[in-house]
Amino acid sequence: MTQPFDLSAALAERRQLRRYRQRLEQQAPAGREALVDGQRLLNFCGNDYLGLANHPQLVTAFKKAADEFGVGSGASHLVCGHSHYHHALEEQLAAFCGRPRALLFSTGYMANLGVIQALVGKGDAVFEDRLNHASLIDGGLASGARFRRYQHVHAASLAAQLAGADVRRKLVVTDGVFSMDGDVAPLAELADVCEQHQAWLMVDDAHGFGVLGEHGGGCVAAQGVQARVPVLVGTLGKAFGTFGAFVAGSDELIETLIQFARPYIYTTALPAAVAAATLASLVLLREEHWRREKLQGLIARFRLGAAQRGFQLMDSATPIQPLLIGDDGEALALSQRLLQRGFLISAIRPPTVPEGTARLRITLSASHEPEDIDRLIESL
Ligand SMILES: *Cc1c(COP(=O)(O)O)cnc(C)c1O
Repeated sequence: MTQPFDLSAALAERRQLRRYRQRLEQQAPAGREALVDGQRLLNFCGNDYLGLANHPQLVTAFKKAADEFGVGSGASHLVCGHSHYHHALEEQLAAFCGRPRALLFSTGYMANLGVIQALVGKGDAVFEDRLNHASLIDGGLASGARFRRYQHVHAASLAAQLAGADVRRKLVVTDGVFSMDGDVAPLAELADVCEQHQAWLMVDDAHGFGVLGEHGGGCVAAQGVQARVPVLVGTLGKAFGTFGAFVAGSDELIETLIQFARPYIYTTALPAAVAAATLASLVLLREEHWRREKLQGLIARFRLGAAQRGFQLMDSATPIQPLLIGDDGEALALSQRLLQRGFLISAIRPPTVPEGTARLRITLSASHEPEDIDRLIESL
């Protein structure tokens, strides 16, 4: 008899495929540098693109609010966990996105599950870019709507699928900046196609906020399509440097989420202190342009240096600069060799990325210095 809970076989298979995942224990905040096993490493794999996660103003705001509100929020937003810090942050995020309302979620993963489930179900259809983040894919699958994936950043492929869909509601879902590739969705083209087919466009710009757009408004701001994206998702754990996520949109959208988004309703609110720290981070993110400018300089320096040495770079103008390796074992071995040389860079393997496209996902941050980039290129 086969044992239904023989977990060892699946674990052994994953190990044998060189896809086994392991965590490193960080002994200090992972910023420009990381400290692992007593070894100082230059960190090129975080998502703290503006270097705000450990900023003294955020830490001060966090401590002050923790003195006032304690640590735990004690309940969900709809019961008694919704503090004035949460409320103020929602208002500030709405203004930042140029939308009537915004709603905080405890994580981006939950925001994506919640929004898709609240907007579509049986009798509807959801259309997703093939390379969307796992949370968007999971949200689409869990919604009960018909689920289709179109070719990566390919508006014509989407149009063909929309034309053939005879359903009540059509929701088109895309990453703004693709998390494992660093390229950006063609939002104006996607919006055109959505408008032609009476579909709604939902953009998850987890990696664009803070980085793209004049004031860090993300790819929607950078591409001038604010009014054409009815559902805009951002996360707070990347360039904002804190934790959590938000959805920005119309009053009706936000009320719909408050009433129907289960991952909003049935979970504990973020700690108020996280909201307070995010209020501090939003000011820095919006006003202190030098971080975005410095980051753009580092990206250009990396791409130039890498191209001069003949590395195959992906088509990315964002801080996500993956080096495509292909083979899982080879990507892992490279990552381990870089670790020995003092660089923290993760090997991203299937199922996070498609088969045969394992890569070193190099990410840059405003906390890096030009010499760090040069050292990285030398070592690669
Ligand atoms: C990181 C990420 C998420 C998940 O956000 P969390 O707040 O970390 O749960 C969602 N979407 C995209 C595109 C992401 O990169």
